[in-house]
Amino acid sequence: MKDSTKSIWAGEETSLIGGATQVPIVNSVAYGYQDVTEWENVIRGKAEGYVYGRYKNPTVEAFEEKIRNLENAEAAVSFSTGMAAITNTMFALLSPGDRIVSVKDTYGGTNRLFLDILPRFGIKVTLCETNDHAAIEEEMEKGCNILYLETPTNPTMQISDIARLAKVSHQVGAIVIVDNTMATPINQKPLTLGADLVVHSATKYLGGHADALGGVLCGNTELIQQVYEYRMITGAALDPTAAYSLLRGMKTLEIRIARQNENALEIAQYLQASPYVETVYYPGLQNDHNHELAKKQMTGFGGILSFSLKGGIVATNKFLPKLKFAHLAANLGAVETTIGPITTTSHAECTLEEIREAGISEGLIRYSAGIENVADLIADLEQAFHAVYETTSVR
Ligand SMILES: *Cc1c(COP(=O)(O)O)cnc(C)c1O
Repeated sequence: MKDSTKSIWAGEETSLIGGATQVPIVNSVAYGYQDVTEWENVIRGKAEGYVYGRYKNPTVEAFEEKIRNLENAEAAVSFSTGMAAITNTMFALLSPGDRIVSVKDTYGGTNRLFLDILPRFGIKVTLCETNDHAAIEEEMEKGCNILYLETPTNPTMQISDIARLAKVSHQVGAIVIVDNTMATPINQKPLTLGADLVVHSATKYLGGHADALGGVLCGNTELIQQVYEYRMITGAALDPTAAYSLLRGMKTLEIRIARQNENALEIAQYLQASPYVETVYYPGLQNDHNHELAKKQMTGFGGILSFSLKGGIVATNKFLPKLKFAHLAANLGAVETTIGPITTTSHAECTLEEIREAGISEGLIRYSAGIENVADLIADLEQAFHAVYETTSVR
C-alpha cells in the first residue's frame, strides 16, 4: 500500500464492529468476561482481548495501527498528548545516571523536560547546537543512552541528518528517537533512515483539524512494549473520542500534506521576495542552508515556515491581527492557516533569555500553511503588509 491508501485503509479492520464501515468510538471503561480463565489469559497477555480502558481500547488501537503502518514500524503506543508521549518514553527508558544528547532547538515543552524535570531525577542532558553534527557526535562518544532529535525543528526548520547521527549513536549503544511531528510520515520516515523510535504530537498534522489532543510512539516491539507497560501504570492513555477524531483526520493526511507542502513553498518564495521581510526559514527554498540535507532525507519540505519582519516586534504586533485567513493561535498543522510569534507558540514555555540562548530571534513569526487556495493566502499577506507599512512609519 502507498501512503495515501494506508491513510485511509490501514489499521481499521479489526476494530470494525458488526459490518460497520467506520471505526466506532468505544467508550466502555471495562470489558466483561463469562470465563475467568479467559479473563486471566487476556490480563497475562496470553490471549488477545480487552480488559480495562487504561490498558487497551479498540478505537485507540485502530489509531495506533494506522500510524504504525504509515511509519513502517513493528509496534505503536499512543498517549493523551504529544508531551505525554515524549515524557513517558524518557521515564520508561532511562534511569538515574543515564545521559541524553539532544539539540538546543527542540519544541519548547521538550526543552523544559530536558532542562527542568529530567535532571531532578539524575538524568544528564546535553544540548548541542542544532546544526553542529560533529559536536553532537563528539558528545555521544562521551557516553549516551538516548540521542533525541527533532527534524525539522519547530519553528526554525533546522534539519538534522538522521542517517549520519544514527550511525554514531548505534556505535555507542544509544537509542535514537526522532520527533517527526513537523514532517509527518508523508514527508519523512525516520525509522527507514535508522532511528529506533519515532514520536508524534498527533494533535498537529495527524489529526489535522485542531480538535483533538494526542501523542504516539512507534518502533520495534521490544521498546514499545517497555514504554506501553510504563504508560499502563502511569496512565496517560489516549481518550477514545480523541482517537476517533485523530483517526478520521488521518484519512486525509496524505492529501493535506501534499497541499500544505505546495502552499508553504509558494508562501516562502513570496515572503523571500517581499521588501517587508527580513529573514525566511524554509528548507524548501533553494538557497536555504538546509535545502540539500532536507532533499536527501525528506520527500516533501513540510507546511511550516518562519520569518521575521523589518521593524521587529512593533511591526509584527501590528501585522498579525490584520490577517483574515489565519488564526492567531498556538497550534500548527491544521487545515486552517495559523500564525503566531514564537514567544506565544513554539516557545511559549521559554523565557526571552532562553529563546536567545537557543540562538532564535525573538521577533520570529511561525506560519503554518493551511490547505486554503494559495493565491488567497498570498493576497491576505499582501493586504496586511500594505496596512502596516504604508499607513505607518514602522519601516
Ligand atoms: C506540539 C508539539 C509537541 C507537543 O505535543 P502536545 O500534543 O501539544 O503535547 C511536541 N513536539 C512538537 C514538535 C510539537 O510541535
